[in-house]
Amino acid sequence: MRTVVIGGGIVGLTSGLALRRKGIDVVVCERAPEIRAAGAGLGLWANALAVFDDLGVGDRVRAIGEPGEMYFHDTAGRLLETPEFGVEDHRFLLVHRAKLTDLLADAVGRDNIRLATGFAAYDEHADHVTVRLGDGGEETADVLVGADGAHSAVRAQLVPGKPAQEHRGHHAWRAVLPDPGVAVPGNRLVLGGDRCRGGYVRTHDGGVYWLVNQFDAPEPAGTLKDQAMARAAHLDDGVLTELVRATPEDLILHNRIMLVPPLPHWASGRVVLAGDAAHAMSPHITAGATLGIEDAALLGRLLSSGDVPAALAAYEADRIPRYARVAELSAAVEHSPTPREFARHYAAFSHWMLTSSAGNPVTA
Ligand SMILES: Cc1cc2nc3c(=O)[nH]c(=O)nc-3n(C[C@H](O)[C@H](O)[C@H](O)COP(=O)(O)OP(=O)(O)OC[C@H]3O[C@@H](n4cnc5c(N)ncnc54)[C@H](O)[C@@H]3O)c2cc1C
Repeated sequence: MRTVVIGGGIVGLTSGLALRRKGIDVVVCERAPEIRAAGAGLGLWANALAVFDDLGVGDRVRAIGEPGEMYFHDTAGRLLETPEFGVEDHRFLLVHRAKLTDLLADAVGRDNIRLATGFAAYDEHADHVTVRLGDGGEETADVLVGADGAHSAVRAQLVPGKPAQEHRGHHAWRAVLPDPGVAVPGNRLVLGGDRCRGGYVRTHDGGVYWLVNQFDAPEPAGTLKDQAMARAAHLDDGVLTELVRATPEDLILHNRIMLVPPLPHWASGRVVLAGDAAHAMSPHITAGATLGIEDAALLGRLLSSGDVPAALAAYEADRIPRYARVAELSAAVEHSPTPREFARHYAAFSHWMLTSSAGNPVTA
């Protein structure tokens, strides 16, 4: 069997690896001239780590990560307790995105990745799919996986009329400071006023990842540092503002958050979506990549049967209801009336995500 994966992000590369581990030929086509994850830190949950263990790269992923616990505090520094949930519902691993995609690209095999190769269109037939590429070339495959992110061109052809939409007023600012020069006593995530949340987490190599987010934000003005400082003022225990102040402007990333609306289908007979292409979601639940990694693992397992249409139908039947539930739980977190409720709904979401998935090798 031969598969073309469009997109060399976390999910495309994990899909490539999962398929190769099942003995399936893979070519990953990435539009950019190099594998380079946009972004800073990334929290991975136990179900993503279980997938990486299954794919033989778990130890290498842990070696570039710093274990942490996702507990929130209020602005007075008080822990927002979630007594209904155990410590395992809060544990995550912080990795640097670029290090993760580099590691995954090595595991897929650089010879199986075509850089500077964008997707143009596909022609689907009963027994194969022809993938037309931006450089005028073509690839013939049994399956096409669209892992090309929130603005997926594969989705635009497979499910027309479902462009990504801005989560209005939702903004995120973040950076990794390799050498912070600011005393950081420990990790701290704060739910503050004016719909702001954020904090800082130490990385495995002595740096710090800080992040600041706001729902219902006014249109940002000024430099990125000004914008982040204004939000950090609603969260501050002193350290966060110092970290933002110490960050060079060009290290600060700013995102308007984009969401993919619910899709009526994720697959046809030979074309399928995975990761943000299918379900770009709000990062306030810090789970988009973890859930996309689940998608990749499930695709690998199902496609190893050799019956492509049946595998893609089973994949879609697993994933669509799972994401409908993710959307409900994510909305409950977003619309929590108080920080305490936010913390409780957040823990409820992570508990559910970690214990519920048929696509999750922890429970499968
Ligand atoms: C602020 C923020 C913080 C977040 N924090 C977390 C977190 O802590 N934990 C977590 O699990 N998730 C988090 N997420 C979500 C996570 O970043 C995404 O869910 C994840 O990166 C999606 O990976 P992907 O591979 O599906 O898509 P992408 O990372 O978008 O990768 C898509 C790839 O496809 C390529 N591509 C696009 N179009 C084409 C084309 N036409 N042809 C070929 N290639 C193409 C792109 O260049 C890119 O390399 C966060 C998101 C944001 C915005």
